[in-house]
Amino acid sequence: MTNVTTIETDERLGLPSASGMERLIACPGSWKLEEAARASGYNEESQWAEAGTRIHKANETGDATELDIPEVELVERIRTIENRLLKEWMSEFNLSEESIQIRREHREWIHSGVMPVASAKLDFSATAGTRGLVLDLKSGRKVVSVPARNWQLRAGAVAIAEEFHLTDVRTAIVQPFAKSSPACDYDPASLSVCQEMIVSGYHAAVEGTSERPLHPGIHCEFCLARYGCAAIRESMGLLQKFHASRWDLIASEDKKGLWLMAKSVGKLSEDIQKRIEDELDENPSAVPGLMRKPDQKVRSISDPYLAVRAITDLLNGPLSPDDFNEIIFIGVGDVEKLVQSKLSRSGPKAKECVNDLLRGIIEFTPKRGSVVAVNQIKESNGI
Ligand code: SF4
Repeated sequence: MTNVTTIETDERLGLPSASGMERLIACPGSWKLEEAARASGYNEESQWAEAGTRIHKANETGDATELDIPEVELVERIRTIENRLLKEWMSEFNLSEESIQIRREHREWIHSGVMPVASAKLDFSATAGTRGLVLDLKSGRKVVSVPARNWQLRAGAVAIAEEFHLTDVRTAIVQPFAKSSPACDYDPASLSVCQEMIVSGYHAAVEGTSERPLHPGIHCEFCLARYGCAAIRESMGLLQKFHASRWDLIASEDKKGLWLMAKSVGKLSEDIQKRIEDELDENPSAVPGLMRKPDQKVRSISDPYLAVRAITDLLNGPLSPDDFNEIIFIGVGDVEKLVQSKLSRSGPKAKECVNDLLRGIIEFTPKRGSVVAVNQIKESNGI
């Protein structure tokens, strides 16, 4: 049962929120397990989460007094990306300045009938007529789902559409430290499918109208219940069993489950290693039988200009293009990022510009695609 005091102080009213929607949809059973972990006093607040909260607050209020200089620059970059995405949306749908309403850090609700089932606190939203724009700010470097399959953004799109009677919503991510991913447009049909899935996720997870199954996967990474989760333990046991058996005896239809299990257990194992490393940093004898190797120094060049001059002196002449190529690697993606930030171009426009600029000198080498799970959800545009 949810504690009444908690509900009174919890602006989410003890209901799921967009930030946890990815996990709730993928693993409905996680909701109750995480609640139990929280009720027993377990929570996780990292220094990155703290910095993220400060940056969100400064971006909302415009007051940067709590930020250090790199954080102030980060907020400026965030604002630049936000403005670019807003302008692109306005120009694409021919929306005038006067018709736009902008909100920051505003919570909107999703209902099943008249009953609220989930909410979404939107970092940035804009509405104009029956159109909406939802931007999610990610100040860190963590890889997040692209807008076309991101349940946090889907919940945001459904909530804003419900609140302001919108028919079409664009969602995008503002993440200055990561490669920009294309925005995703939701039309009335895709908004309705998302709404239905969120409501049925709520029923399965919160009301317990189904068995609330546990489904391990990459969404386990930040689940508060991950260290005591029976499904994770079972996955580890199964992996061991599979590992001990002959590969050619494993049925093809079992391999997708095996792959997903290996991914989730792999994430958990990285997490465990990181935690042990942190403990050893705090106290070198915290874990009997383990120790940190002595620190090493990594070399880097602080002044590229002086470095090139020193090499030129050493070689008795300017660097040839081949010498230059030996020591400096210019990635096409890096040039795109430069065009994006210096010329305020969107990701696709920067790509087009760089492709034109470097036509004839961009080499295409084949790269194997990574393995991904085939989703039942159509990921191209909304649902
Ligand atoms: S650890 Fe993974 S499988 Fe277990 S409850 Fe959390 S999300 Fe579900």
